[in-house]
Amino acid sequence: QLNPALQAARDNKIKVAMIGLCGCWGCTLSMLDMDEALLGLLDKVTILRSSLTDIKRIRERCAIGFVEGGIANEENIETLKEFRENCDILISVGACAVWGGVPAMRNEVELSDCLREAYVDSVTAVPDAIPTIPYHEDIPRITTRVYPCHEVVKMDYFIPGCPPDGATILKVLDDLINGREFDLPASINRYD
Ligand code: SF4
Repeated sequence: QLNPALQAARDNKIKVAMIGLCGCWGCTLSMLDMDEALLGLLDKVTILRSSLTDIKRIRERCAIGFVEGGIANEENIETLKEFRENCDILISVGACAVWGGVPAMRNEVELSDCLREAYVDSVTAVPDAIPTIPYHEDIPRITTRVYPCHEVVKMDYFIPGCPPDGATILKVLDDLINGREFDLPASINRYD
């Protein structure tokens, strides 16, 4: 529970949050790579749910939401839709969010073949163990394809790259909170 003065100060700032869906957390690490440069924005923004704060849920409306990762299971869909409802501006960060990225390589094969390769015919399968595809009601059901975020909800902006670096994310954030149109160079569309 924040003290009332701190709460009031935070309420007057632009609220920013980031969620991770089906990705590798590399884009989330880029957010961390903003390092001390982020300090210069903290008089204007407050960070809610994100890897920076370790807040798991947002219960208040956000001005700007960043999304890492695409959609690979039903929980991803639910999380993204809820985030969309709570954010004024939603931004796909990185190749996985923008077009599915590496996880979308499984779209080239049938889901059943993909699961069999992963759990039954895998070269890392334990010898003599009974191969089985895990199933439990608590495990989110995976979708037949991996989708980019904009095929599930409306996304307002896209930051390409795998991953885009911290300076790029910072520039987008800085431009948005200062009301500038941003124009990212084509050179950020790279895969490190
Ligand atoms: Fe990881 Fe690249 Fe996907 Fe970002 S875009 S989550 S760095 S694989």
